[in-house]
Amino acid sequence: MSLSITFHGAARMVTGSKHLLELPGGQRLLLDCGMFQGEGPASDALNRRFGFDPKSIDALVLSHAHIDHSGLIPRLVAEGFQGPIYATEATRDLCEILLADSAFIQENDYRYDAKRAKKQGQAMTEIGPLYTTADVDAAMQLFRMVPYDTPTEILPGTTLAFIDAGHILGSASVHLTVASREGVRRITFSGDVGRYVDRLLPDPKAFPQADVIICESTYGNRDHQEASASAMELLGHVQRVCVQQQGRLIIPAFSVGRTQELLYQFNHLFNSGQLPRVPVFVDSPLSINATGIYRKHARLLQADIRQELERDPDLFGFPGVEFIREAARSKELNTRKGPSITIAASGMMDAGRIRHHLFHGLRDARNAVLVVGFCGPGTFGERLLQRPDTVHMYGEEVPVNAAILTMESYSAHADRNELLRWISCQDPSLVKQVFLVHGDMQAMEGLKERYSDAGFRHIEMPRQGQRCQV
Ligand SMILES: [Zn+2]
Repeated sequence: MSLSITFHGAARMVTGSKHLLELPGGQRLLLDCGMFQGEGPASDALNRRFGFDPKSIDALVLSHAHIDHSGLIPRLVAEGFQGPIYATEATRDLCEILLADSAFIQENDYRYDAKRAKKQGQAMTEIGPLYTTADVDAAMQLFRMVPYDTPTEILPGTTLAFIDAGHILGSASVHLTVASREGVRRITFSGDVGRYVDRLLPDPKAFPQADVIICESTYGNRDHQEASASAMELLGHVQRVCVQQQGRLIIPAFSVGRTQELLYQFNHLFNSGQLPRVPVFVDSPLSINATGIYRKHARLLQADIRQELERDPDLFGFPGVEFIREAARSKELNTRKGPSITIAASGMMDAGRIRHHLFHGLRDARNAVLVVGFCGPGTFGERLLQRPDTVHMYGEEVPVNAAILTMESYSAHADRNELLRWISCQDPSLVKQVFLVHGDMQAMEGLKERYSDAGFRHIEMPRQGQRCQV
Protein backbone atom coordinates (compact mmCIF):
# COMPACT_ATOMS: atom_id res chain seq x y z
CA MET A 1 0.00 0.00 0.00
CA SER A 2 1.15 3.50 -0.56
CA LEU A 3 1.83 5.15 2.74
CA SER A 4 4.75 7.51 3.20
CA ILE A 5 6.24 9.91 5.71
CA THR A 6 8.29 12.95 4.67
CA PHE A 7 10.35 14.59 7.39
CA HIS A 8 10.09 18.35 6.94
CA GLY A 9 11.61 19.39 10.27
CA ALA A 10 13.30 18.17 13.48
CA ALA A 11 15.24 15.85 11.14
CA ARG A 12 18.77 15.53 12.57
CA MET A 13 18.03 18.67 14.61
CA VAL A 14 15.80 19.59 17.53
CA THR A 15 13.46 22.25 16.19
CA GLY A 16 10.90 22.67 13.39
CA SER A 17 8.99 19.41 14.13
CA LYS A 18 6.91 18.69 11.01
CA HIS A 19 6.18 15.26 9.48
CA LEU A 20 3.92 14.78 6.48
CA LEU A 21 1.96 11.54 6.08
CA GLU A 22 0.61 10.66 2.65
CA LEU A 23 -2.16 8.16 3.26
CA PRO A 24 -3.34 5.31 1.01
CA GLY A 25 -6.56 7.21 0.21
CA GLY A 26 -4.52 10.12 -1.11
CA GLN A 27 -5.13 12.38 1.91
CA ARG A 28 -2.26 14.36 3.42
CA LEU A 29 -1.95 14.54 7.18
CA LEU A 30 0.60 16.76 8.89
CA LEU A 31 2.01 15.85 12.31
CA ASP A 32 3.06 19.07 14.12
CA CYS A 33 3.87 22.38 12.45
CA GLY A 34 6.82 23.63 14.46
CA MET A 35 9.08 26.61 14.05
CA PHE A 36 12.83 26.29 13.43
CA GLN A 37 14.70 28.16 16.16
CA GLY A 38 18.15 29.19 17.28
CA GLU A 39 20.07 29.39 13.98
CA GLY A 40 19.33 33.06 13.07
CA PRO A 41 18.96 33.66 9.31
CA ALA A 42 19.20 29.91 8.55
CA SER A 43 16.16 29.24 10.78
CA ASP A 44 14.32 32.17 9.22
CA ALA A 45 14.89 30.80 5.71
CA LEU A 46 13.60 27.36 6.77
CA ASN A 47 10.56 28.96 8.39
CA ARG A 48 9.61 30.76 5.19
CA ARG A 49 9.46 27.65 2.98
CA PHE A 50 7.40 24.65 3.99
CA GLY A 51 8.59 22.22 1.33
CA PHE A 52 4.96 21.29 0.57
CA ASP A 53 1.81 23.17 -0.40
CA PRO A 54 -0.16 24.12 2.75
CA LYS A 55 -3.37 24.13 0.68
CA SER A 56 -2.87 20.43 -0.06
CA ILE A 57 -2.93 19.38 3.63
CA ASP A 58 -6.22 17.81 4.75
CA ALA A 59 -5.68 17.86 8.51
CA LEU A 60 -3.08 18.68 11.16
CA VAL A 61 -2.45 16.74 14.37
CA LEU A 62 -0.56 18.64 17.06
CA SER A 63 1.38 16.77 19.78
CA HIS A 64 1.84 19.71 22.16
CA ALA A 65 1.99 23.49 22.40
CA HIS A 66 5.74 24.21 22.43
CA ILE A 67 6.66 26.62 19.63
CA ASP A 68 9.11 24.20 18.00
CA HIS A 69 6.05 21.97 17.43
CA SER A 70 3.26 24.54 16.91
CA GLY A 71 4.94 27.81 15.96
CA LEU A 72 4.28 27.79 12.21
CA ILE A 73 0.56 26.93 12.39
CA PRO A 74 -0.53 30.56 11.74
CA ARG A 75 1.73 30.71 8.69
CA LEU A 76 0.32 27.41 7.41
CA VAL A 77 -3.16 28.92 7.70
CA ALA A 78 -2.06 32.21 6.11
CA GLU A 79 -0.73 30.19 3.15
CA GLY A 80 -4.05 28.46 2.57
CA PHE A 81 -4.43 25.52 4.99
CA GLN A 82 -8.10 25.28 5.95
CA GLY A 83 -8.42 21.83 7.53
CA PRO A 84 -9.03 20.91 11.15
CA ILE A 85 -6.24 21.07 13.75
CA TYR A 86 -6.56 18.23 16.27
CA ALA A 87 -5.14 18.83 19.76
CA THR A 88 -5.99 18.27 23.43
CA GLU A 89 -7.87 21.09 25.13
CA ALA A 90 -4.90 22.15 27.26
CA THR A 91 -2.70 22.25 24.12
CA ARG A 92 -5.27 24.48 22.42
CA ASP A 93 -5.38 26.82 25.44
CA LEU A 94 -1.58 27.04 25.62
CA CYS A 95 -1.32 27.60 21.84
CA GLU A 96 -3.66 30.54 22.11
CA ILE A 97 -1.21 32.44 24.33
CA LEU A 98 2.03 31.08 22.86
CA LEU A 99 1.14 31.81 19.23
CA ALA A 100 -0.20 35.28 20.10
CA ASP A 101 3.10 35.98 21.88
CA SER A 102 5.08 34.63 18.91
CA ALA A 103 3.16 36.87 16.45
CA PHE A 104 3.67 39.87 18.74
CA ILE A 105 7.46 39.27 18.87
CA GLN A 106 7.68 38.94 15.08
CA GLU A 107 5.60 42.03 14.37
CA ASN A 108 7.71 43.98 16.86
CA ASP A 109 11.04 42.74 15.44
CA TYR A 110 9.89 43.65 11.94
CA ARG A 111 8.85 47.15 13.01
CA TYR A 112 12.19 47.60 14.81
CA ASP A 113 14.19 46.47 11.73
CA ALA A 114 12.13 48.72 9.43
CA LYS A 115 12.70 51.72 11.71
CA ARG A 116 16.44 51.06 11.89
CA ALA A 117 16.67 50.67 8.09
CA LYS A 118 14.83 53.97 7.61
CA LYS A 119 17.11 55.73 10.11
CA GLN A 120 20.19 54.48 8.28
CA GLY A 121 18.68 55.57 4.96
CA GLN A 122 18.57 52.00 3.67
CA ALA A 123 15.79 50.25 1.84
CA MET A 124 14.08 47.62 3.95
CA THR A 125 15.40 44.37 2.57
CA GLU A 126 13.63 42.01 4.96
CA ILE A 127 10.33 40.53 4.01
CA GLY A 128 7.45 40.92 6.46
CA PRO A 129 6.92 39.02 9.74
CA LEU A 130 6.32 35.26 9.47
CA TYR A 131 2.72 35.92 10.50
CA THR A 132 0.56 38.43 12.29
CA THR A 133 -1.83 38.44 15.24
CA ALA A 134 -4.72 38.25 12.73
CA ASP A 135 -3.25 35.01 11.31
CA VAL A 136 -3.18 33.57 14.84
CA ASP A 137 -6.87 34.44 15.33
CA ALA A 138 -7.73 32.66 12.06
CA ALA A 139 -5.68 29.59 13.07
CA MET A 140 -7.35 29.30 16.47
CA GLN A 141 -10.72 28.89 14.74
CA LEU A 142 -9.53 25.62 13.19
CA PHE A 143 -8.73 23.79 16.45
CA ARG A 144 -10.80 20.70 17.29
CA MET A 145 -10.35 19.24 20.76
CA VAL A 146 -9.74 15.51 21.25
CA PRO A 147 -9.42 14.17 24.84
CA TYR A 148 -6.70 11.66 25.82
CA ASP A 149 -7.36 7.95 25.14
CA THR A 150 -10.36 8.60 22.90
CA PRO A 151 -9.99 7.10 19.40
CA THR A 152 -11.46 9.55 16.92
CA GLU A 153 -11.84 9.19 13.15
CA ILE A 154 -10.20 12.29 11.69
CA LEU A 155 -10.08 11.32 8.00
CA PRO A 156 -11.90 8.48 6.21
CA GLY A 157 -10.16 5.30 7.42
CA THR A 158 -7.75 7.13 9.76
CA THR A 159 -8.27 7.15 13.53
CA LEU A 160 -6.34 9.24 16.04
CA ALA A 161 -5.76 8.63 19.74
CA PHE A 162 -3.82 11.00 22.00
CA ILE A 163 -1.79 9.26 24.73
CA ASP A 164 -0.45 11.39 27.63
CA ALA A 165 3.26 12.02 27.04
CA GLY A 166 3.88 13.73 30.42
CA HIS A 167 6.07 16.43 28.84
CA ILE A 168 4.06 19.62 29.38
CA LEU A 169 0.41 20.23 30.21
CA GLY A 170 -1.71 18.73 27.40
CA SER A 171 1.23 17.00 25.69
CA ALA A 172 0.52 13.79 23.82
CA SER A 173 1.97 11.01 21.79
CA VAL A 174 -0.04 10.51 18.62
CA HIS A 175 -1.29 7.01 17.79
CA LEU A 176 -2.83 6.60 14.33
CA THR A 177 -4.51 3.59 12.75
CA VAL A 178 -4.68 3.82 8.99
CA ALA A 179 -6.93 1.44 7.03
CA SER A 180 -6.02 0.25 3.55
CA ARG A 181 -6.86 -2.64 1.24
CA GLU A 182 -3.94 -4.60 2.70
CA GLY A 183 -5.03 -4.15 6.30
CA VAL A 184 -4.48 -1.69 9.12
CA ARG A 185 -1.16 0.14 9.65
CA ARG A 186 -0.51 1.58 13.11
CA ILE A 187 1.78 4.58 13.43
CA THR A 188 2.91 6.21 16.70
CA PHE A 189 4.56 9.61 16.83
CA SER A 190 6.12 10.22 20.26
CA GLY A 191 5.80 14.02 20.26
CA ASP A 192 8.16 15.03 23.08
CA VAL A 193 8.38 12.38 25.80
CA GLY A 194 8.37 13.63 29.40
CA ARG A 195 10.02 12.30 32.54
CA TYR A 196 8.99 9.45 34.79
CA VAL A 197 9.88 11.66 37.73
CA ASP A 198 8.02 14.84 36.78
CA ARG A 199 6.88 16.67 39.87
CA LEU A 200 3.73 18.09 38.32
CA LEU A 201 2.65 15.79 35.52
CA PRO A 202 1.85 12.08 35.46
CA ASP A 203 4.34 9.67 33.86
CA PRO A 204 4.29 9.17 30.09
CA LYS A 205 1.69 6.49 29.36
CA ALA A 206 2.05 3.20 27.50
CA PHE A 207 0.71 3.25 23.95
CA PRO A 208 -0.94 0.54 21.82
CA GLN A 209 1.25 -1.69 19.66
CA ALA A 210 2.54 0.14 16.59
CA ASP A 211 4.03 -0.97 13.26
CA VAL A 212 5.92 2.28 12.74
CA ILE A 213 7.28 4.58 15.45
CA ILE A 214 8.55 8.14 15.00
CA CYS A 215 10.49 8.88 18.18
CA GLU A 216 12.13 11.97 19.63
CA SER A 217 15.75 11.62 20.76
CA THR A 218 16.70 14.96 22.40
CA TYR A 219 18.57 13.26 25.28
CA GLY A 220 19.10 9.92 23.52
CA ASN A 221 22.74 9.72 24.68
CA ARG A 222 22.41 11.24 28.15
CA ASP A 223 21.27 10.33 31.65
CA HIS A 224 19.76 13.06 33.81
CA GLN A 225 20.87 13.46 37.39
CA GLU A 226 18.55 12.20 40.15
CA ALA A 227 15.45 14.37 40.22
CA SER A 228 14.62 13.63 43.85
CA ALA A 229 17.58 15.73 44.98
CA SER A 230 16.57 18.74 42.89
CA ALA A 231 14.71 20.65 45.64
CA MET A 232 17.75 20.50 47.92
CA GLU A 233 20.09 21.45 45.09
CA LEU A 234 17.88 24.41 44.19
CA LEU A 235 17.79 25.47 47.83
CA GLY A 236 21.59 25.15 47.99
CA HIS A 237 21.97 27.55 45.04
CA VAL A 238 19.58 30.05 46.66
CA GLN A 239 21.46 29.91 49.96
CA ARG A 240 24.88 30.35 48.39
CA VAL A 241 24.02 33.05 45.85
CA CYS A 242 21.26 35.02 47.58
CA VAL A 243 22.09 34.58 51.29
CA GLN A 244 25.89 34.16 51.49
CA GLN A 245 26.88 36.29 48.49
CA GLN A 246 23.86 38.64 48.65
CA GLY A 247 23.62 38.29 44.87
CA ARG A 248 20.93 37.76 42.28
CA LEU A 249 19.97 34.31 41.07
CA ILE A 250 18.81 34.65 37.46
CA ILE A 251 16.90 31.68 36.07
CA PRO A 252 16.13 31.63 32.33
CA ALA A 253 13.11 29.36 31.87
CA PHE A 254 10.51 28.45 29.28
CA SER A 255 7.25 30.20 30.14
CA VAL A 256 5.35 26.96 29.80
CA GLY A 257 6.30 24.00 31.94
CA ARG A 258 9.66 24.89 33.44
CA THR A 259 8.46 28.10 35.12
CA GLN A 260 5.54 26.26 36.74
CA GLU A 261 7.88 23.45 37.90
CA LEU A 262 10.17 26.00 39.54
CA LEU A 263 7.31 27.90 41.15
CA TYR A 264 5.85 24.68 42.45
CA GLN A 265 9.19 23.76 44.02
CA PHE A 266 9.74 27.24 45.51
CA ASN A 267 6.19 27.09 46.90
CA HIS A 268 7.00 23.72 48.45
CA LEU A 269 10.19 25.08 50.03
CA PHE A 270 8.23 28.05 51.33
CA ASN A 271 5.48 25.87 52.83
CA SER A 272 8.09 23.78 54.65
CA GLY A 273 9.75 26.93 56.01
CA GLN A 274 13.04 26.31 54.19
CA LEU A 275 13.00 29.11 51.62
CA PRO A 276 15.10 32.08 52.82
CA ARG A 277 13.32 35.44 52.74
CA VAL A 278 14.40 36.49 49.27
CA PRO A 279 12.03 38.18 46.82
CA VAL A 280 11.13 36.01 43.81
CA PHE A 281 10.22 37.79 40.58
CA VAL A 282 8.46 36.02 37.74
CA ASP A 283 9.18 38.50 34.98
CA SER A 284 7.12 37.16 32.11
CA PRO A 285 3.54 38.03 31.20
CA LEU A 286 3.41 34.82 29.18
CA SER A 287 4.37 32.76 32.25
CA ILE A 288 1.58 34.42 34.21
CA ASN A 289 -0.95 33.42 31.54
CA ALA A 290 0.48 29.92 31.22
CA THR A 291 0.35 29.47 35.01
CA GLY A 292 -3.36 30.37 34.81
CA ILE A 293 -3.86 27.59 32.26
CA TYR A 294 -2.04 25.08 34.51
CA ARG A 295 -4.46 26.08 37.29
CA LYS A 296 -7.45 25.69 34.95
CA HIS A 297 -6.38 22.18 33.94
CA ALA A 298 -5.26 21.05 37.42
CA ARG A 299 -7.13 17.75 36.87
CA LEU A 300 -4.34 16.77 34.44
CA LEU A 301 -1.67 17.02 37.15
CA GLN A 302 -0.38 14.10 39.24
CA ALA A 303 -2.82 12.60 41.75
CA ASP A 304 -0.81 13.64 44.83
CA ILE A 305 -0.58 17.20 43.49
CA ARG A 306 -4.34 17.32 43.15
CA GLN A 307 -4.56 16.29 46.81
CA GLU A 308 -2.05 18.95 47.75
CA LEU A 309 -4.26 21.51 46.01
CA GLU A 310 -6.92 20.86 48.62
CA ARG A 311 -4.53 22.05 51.35
CA ASP A 312 -2.85 24.83 49.33
CA PRO A 313 -5.15 26.17 46.61
CA ASP A 314 -2.32 28.10 44.98
CA LEU A 315 0.58 25.78 44.20
CA PHE A 316 2.41 28.39 42.14
CA GLY A 317 2.18 31.41 44.43
CA PHE A 318 3.40 32.26 47.95
CA PRO A 319 4.21 35.38 49.97
CA GLY A 320 7.34 36.95 48.49
CA VAL A 321 6.68 36.11 44.85
CA GLU A 322 5.78 38.93 42.47
CA PHE A 323 4.40 38.31 38.98
CA ILE A 324 5.39 41.15 36.67
CA ARG A 325 3.40 42.16 33.59
CA GLU A 326 4.42 45.80 33.03
CA ALA A 327 7.66 46.49 31.17
CA ALA A 328 8.36 49.51 33.40
CA ARG A 329 8.34 47.33 36.53
CA SER A 330 10.56 44.81 34.75
CA LYS A 331 13.12 47.56 34.03
CA GLU A 332 13.11 48.62 37.69
CA LEU A 333 14.61 45.23 38.57
CA ASN A 334 17.78 46.16 36.64
CA THR A 335 18.77 48.78 39.19
CA ARG A 336 17.32 47.04 42.22
CA LYS A 337 19.80 46.51 45.07
CA GLY A 338 20.00 43.40 47.22
CA PRO A 339 19.50 39.69 46.66
CA SER A 340 16.66 38.31 44.57
CA ILE A 341 15.56 35.42 42.41
CA THR A 342 14.35 36.27 38.91
CA ILE A 343 12.66 33.78 36.59
CA ALA A 344 12.23 35.05 33.02
CA ALA A 345 11.93 33.77 29.45
CA SER A 346 13.16 32.73 27.01
CA GLY A 347 14.75 29.55 28.27
CA MET A 348 17.42 29.51 25.55
CA MET A 349 18.11 33.22 26.23
CA ASP A 350 17.73 34.37 22.62
CA ALA A 351 14.83 36.70 23.26
CA GLY A 352 12.55 38.14 25.91
CA ARG A 353 13.11 39.93 29.20
CA ILE A 354 15.82 37.50 30.33
CA ARG A 355 18.19 39.33 27.95
CA HIS A 356 18.02 42.51 30.06
CA HIS A 357 18.55 40.63 33.29
CA LEU A 358 21.61 38.92 31.82
CA PHE A 359 22.95 42.19 30.39
CA HIS A 360 22.81 43.82 33.84
CA GLY A 361 23.50 40.74 35.95
CA LEU A 362 26.39 38.94 34.24
CA ARG A 363 29.01 41.52 35.26
CA ASP A 364 28.63 40.98 39.01
CA ALA A 365 30.53 38.03 40.52
CA ARG A 366 28.04 37.81 43.39
CA ASN A 367 25.32 36.82 40.91
CA ALA A 368 24.66 33.50 39.20
CA VAL A 369 22.73 32.29 36.18
CA LEU A 370 21.00 28.96 36.77
CA VAL A 371 20.36 27.12 33.50
CA VAL A 372 17.53 24.62 33.97
CA GLY A 373 16.64 23.68 30.39
CA PHE A 374 17.93 22.51 27.06
CA CYS A 375 19.79 25.17 25.02
CA GLY A 376 19.82 24.34 21.33
CA PRO A 377 22.89 24.68 19.10
CA GLY A 378 23.60 28.28 18.10
CA THR A 379 21.56 29.81 20.93
CA PHE A 380 22.85 32.41 23.37
CA GLY A 381 22.27 29.87 26.15
CA GLU A 382 24.59 27.37 24.51
CA ARG A 383 27.32 30.02 24.25
CA LEU A 384 26.90 31.03 27.87
CA LEU A 385 27.18 27.40 28.98
CA GLN A 386 30.70 27.37 27.52
CA ARG A 387 31.49 29.96 30.20
CA PRO A 388 33.12 32.59 27.97
CA ASP A 389 35.01 35.57 29.46
CA THR A 390 32.69 38.00 27.71
CA VAL A 391 29.51 37.92 25.65
CA HIS A 392 28.31 40.38 23.02
CA MET A 393 24.98 41.99 23.98
CA TYR A 394 23.29 45.17 22.78
CA GLY A 395 26.47 46.34 21.02
CA GLU A 396 28.69 45.82 24.10
CA GLU A 397 31.19 43.22 25.29
CA VAL A 398 29.74 42.20 28.65
CA PRO A 399 32.14 40.45 31.08
CA VAL A 400 30.81 37.16 32.41
CA ASN A 401 31.71 37.36 36.11
CA ALA A 402 28.55 35.70 37.39
CA ALA A 403 28.70 31.94 37.94
CA ILE A 404 26.94 29.81 35.32
CA LEU A 405 25.16 26.94 37.09
CA THR A 406 23.17 24.09 35.57
CA MET A 407 20.48 21.74 36.81
CA GLU A 408 19.50 19.16 34.23
CA SER A 409 16.96 17.48 36.49
CA TYR A 410 14.37 20.08 35.47
CA SER A 411 14.48 18.84 31.91
CA ALA A 412 11.00 18.11 30.53
CA HIS A 413 12.55 15.52 28.17
CA ALA A 414 13.05 11.85 28.91
CA ASP A 415 16.70 10.78 29.08
CA ARG A 416 17.93 7.62 27.30
CA ASN A 417 16.75 5.23 30.02
CA GLU A 418 13.37 6.90 30.10
CA LEU A 419 13.06 6.74 26.30
CA LEU A 420 13.80 3.04 26.58
CA ARG A 421 11.12 2.74 29.25
CA TRP A 422 8.65 4.63 27.03
CA ILE A 423 9.13 2.20 24.15
CA SER A 424 9.20 -0.91 26.39
CA CYS A 425 5.40 -1.27 26.06
CA GLN A 426 6.04 -2.49 22.51
CA ASP A 427 6.81 -5.96 21.17
CA PRO A 428 9.95 -5.14 19.12
CA SER A 429 9.33 -8.06 16.75
CA LEU A 430 6.09 -6.40 15.59
CA VAL A 431 7.62 -2.96 14.99
CA LYS A 432 8.71 -2.75 11.36
CA GLN A 433 10.40 0.64 11.40
CA VAL A 434 11.60 3.23 13.92
CA PHE A 435 12.44 6.75 12.79
CA LEU A 436 14.51 8.86 15.18
CA VAL A 437 13.83 12.61 15.04
CA HIS A 438 14.26 15.70 17.26
CA GLY A 439 17.89 15.12 18.21
CA ASP A 440 21.43 15.80 17.06
CA MET A 441 23.50 13.00 15.50
CA GLN A 442 25.21 11.93 18.75
CA ALA A 443 21.90 11.77 20.60
CA MET A 444 20.33 9.72 17.80
CA GLU A 445 23.32 7.36 17.58
CA GLY A 446 23.15 6.82 21.35
CA LEU A 447 19.45 6.02 21.26
CA LYS A 448 19.79 3.82 18.19
CA GLU A 449 22.27 1.66 20.08
CA ARG A 450 19.91 1.31 23.07
CA TYR A 451 16.90 0.52 20.89
CA SER A 452 18.89 -2.03 18.84
CA ASP A 453 20.00 -3.74 22.06
CA ALA A 454 16.32 -3.91 23.06
CA GLY A 455 15.53 -5.76 19.82
CA PHE A 456 14.18 -3.00 17.57
CA ARG A 457 15.21 -3.27 13.93
CA HIS A 458 15.25 -0.88 10.96
CA ILE A 459 16.06 2.21 12.99
CA GLU A 460 16.54 5.18 10.69
CA MET A 461 17.65 8.77 11.12
CA PRO A 462 15.91 10.59 8.26
CA ARG A 463 17.36 13.74 6.72
CA GLN A 464 15.45 17.00 6.23
CA GLY A 465 13.00 16.51 3.32
CA GLN A 466 13.54 12.72 3.09
CA ARG A 467 10.46 10.71 2.04
CA CYS A 468 10.18 7.18 3.42
CA GLN A 469 7.68 4.48 2.44
CA VAL A 470 6.26 2.72 5.48
ZN1 LIG B 1 8.33 20.20 23.78
